[in-house]
Amino acid sequence: MKLVIRSLRAAIRSPFVNSRRSLTTSTSHIQTSNDANEDEIVKIFDSSDYWNKFNQQQSSDKTASNQTASIFDSLNFNSSRQKSVGLFCNPYLTSPKGLKRFAEESLDRARALTNHMIEDQSEKSMKSYIKELDRLSDMLCRVIDLCEFVRAAHPNSSFVKAAEQCHAQLFEHMNVLNTSKPLFVKLQKVLYDGKLGIRKTLSQEEISVGELLYSDFKKSGIDMDDATGEQFVQLSSYIATAGQEFNNNITIPQSNSIKIEPSEWEEGDINPECSKSISHGFDGSLTIPIYGHLPFELLRSCPNKIIRQKIWVALHSVPENQTALLTSLLSCRAILAKLMGCNNYAEYALQDKMARNSNNVVGFLRGLINDLQPEVLKELKMLYKYFPPGSVKENPTSEELVNSIRPWDREYLLTKHILSQKSSQNEDITQYFSLGTVVSGLSKLFHSIYGIKLIPQKLKPGEVWSSSVRRFDAVSDKDGKVGIMYLDLLHRVGKTPHPAHFTVCCSRMLDNAELDSKDPFNLSLPTTSTVETVVQKGKTYQLPVISLVCNYYGNKNNSGIICLTLEQVATLFHEMGHAMHSMLGRTALHNVSGTRCQTDFVELPSILHETFARDERVLASFGKHYETGKPVPTQLVRKHLESDRLLTYCETFGQVKMALLDQLYHGAGNCDVTDEAFDALGLYHQLESNLAILADTKSSWPGKFGHLYSYGALYYSYLLDRAISAKVWSNLFQEDPFSREAGEKFKNEILRWGGSRDPWVCLSKLLNAKELAKGDVKAMEFISKDSGPL
Ligand SMILES: [Zn+2]
Repeated sequence: MKLVIRSLRAAIRSPFVNSRRSLTTSTSHIQTSNDANEDEIVKIFDSSDYWNKFNQQQSSDKTASNQTASIFDSLNFNSSRQKSVGLFCNPYLTSPKGLKRFAEESLDRARALTNHMIEDQSEKSMKSYIKELDRLSDMLCRVIDLCEFVRAAHPNSSFVKAAEQCHAQLFEHMNVLNTSKPLFVKLQKVLYDGKLGIRKTLSQEEISVGELLYSDFKKSGIDMDDATGEQFVQLSSYIATAGQEFNNNITIPQSNSIKIEPSEWEEGDINPECSKSISHGFDGSLTIPIYGHLPFELLRSCPNKIIRQKIWVALHSVPENQTALLTSLLSCRAILAKLMGCNNYAEYALQDKMARNSNNVVGFLRGLINDLQPEVLKELKMLYKYFPPGSVKENPTSEELVNSIRPWDREYLLTKHILSQKSSQNEDITQYFSLGTVVSGLSKLFHSIYGIKLIPQKLKPGEVWSSSVRRFDAVSDKDGKVGIMYLDLLHRVGKTPHPAHFTVCCSRMLDNAELDSKDPFNLSLPTTSTVETVVQKGKTYQLPVISLVCNYYGNKNNSGIICLTLEQVATLFHEMGHAMHSMLGRTALHNVSGTRCQTDFVELPSILHETFARDERVLASFGKHYETGKPVPTQLVRKHLESDRLLTYCETFGQVKMALLDQLYHGAGNCDVTDEAFDALGLYHQLESNLAILADTKSSWPGKFGHLYSYGALYYSYLLDRAISAKVWSNLFQEDPFSREAGEKFKNEILRWGGSRDPWVCLSKLLNAKELAKGDVKAMEFISKDSGPL
């Protein structure tokens, strides 16, 4: 049972909640005018005076802290001035000790619930079995997800240490559950025992979740004989260790320097600034270090092709043992897949994914290649102009064009192009996109397309982990509060550098029993104090809580206001797309809520939201100068977007090549990686030269492709979602990016379902394209066709 693995995957890119049903406080905000809400958001980020005043008003509201005061007294932490309400208003989380207590109690109740589920074989228990599995999973996920978050973002090292310990402890328990035969056997009866007839009493969502868990059990090798099981465990553990090692080694260079022979260079190849860091041999040779800033500077500025090539190859190469490690990792994966009855690892990894099999994936990628090629050629033509006059043919054929631009020419030619454009100096666009302006722009957009506003909330003592965190409630015009977001966006030492969306608590329907404090599987503190709940259509739901973590630095304009580049704006929109998926998913079971859906579908909402940040109408609708309040000139936005789009087709083409390599390495196209003659680098160079464009036939780059381990045959996912997103955009939002009708459709056909409905069915309804519902090769072709720059 990968109950928890499911959650970890969703945390790619979860909290507790207090018991206040703050629908009432929220509605008062709804009545304020649009602009007032937007202004408030701007100031909450951009003016510390305003924020302090806003947050202080809270001290007059003592009710919530008084209610829980005795609890905090007993936990004896944070006794300074005000009592802490605990991280995310979860009263356990007032201290590292409290986190441990939360983990221990959760584990204790999870064990009790497991025993109960195994012992009770009555019909009643069979009928509620999937719901109980989901509850069990939620109990563990709430701790594990929380620990994942604390490890990545909490500034207090004792908290981080406690999170690491709790994580390890619960993770181990999860592995026990994943291989629990009694749990598996009962699930088998519930789903597939025709005589018992339980299946027909279940909801469609329960059946989906049951089947997902069933296949996860099987993937954990639950029904193997002892010897095979033993082999499975050994292989899995080797793969995990070797994979980790592989990823740790990707930055180790093949060599620290390269040598340029006297005959290979001449005066003028190296600019004086770079020359200082290069050692000149007595024989006239050069030794160039392959670390720091220098090699990259030379790739941009050195007119000598041989030097650029040697540097580029060195930067993209790894020591031989890294390639050997990759080969053995791939071969163990292939053996593991065979053990599981699959022909290769790609088949094993893809069987429950949206793309289904590697034929579909390869067909999709080939479709993209055909579609991208003409545009890539245009971009190459543009670059070609910058070769020094006389060094290349004047009117090359396409083939000559492709053959003459090699990977080590790209930066050099691009830099020349950028320098030639510099005459039309662009105004600094970041000044129009202060952090507050961007978040308020998001709220404005969400209100327009989904009827959802982000309402800033005052913080309670101890609710957040850093003074720069802001809390927002997502409030719908129709349904009131739908979820809670914590935005932790500013740079802090020790924080994860990667922007990420963490689920701290998933949306889920709560049974009456769970709300009863006498229920034996509840924690000692009442459920409603550790999660915030909301009643919708007579049913009680756990409200989703997420945390968005970015690491934005302050800008240079002395104002202390953080201003974002368009790329950073797009990143925030991307992460907010994940957040909206979490907020708007409304499923009864947490295993399929919001972002807990197929790996190759989960990026659709985020990529689609990112597209809004690349649309000049959207950017112009909220971009405002941080000082003067002047709206951003559309012309300026357009110019910046255009320059951001430079070489975008080449970029995508490069991604397609990587995704194809990932398929081949994992067995697509009958490639036998267990064969002793298998040559990982040979295969890579072959693929590169077949595809010709910017072909690398020299380096050992696959040893640097860490996603080969972490994605394992799923690297295409991002491209697939980009292609789907492009279709959704052109069908729904291109004409009017503020359309409520389009937003409602996207919400109702995609976001709401989380992982509880086949993504192809979701898409066929969303795009009114019946042929998509089957999710076959034709559907994949439909997606790759006319996909644009992605
Ligand atoms: Zn993402």
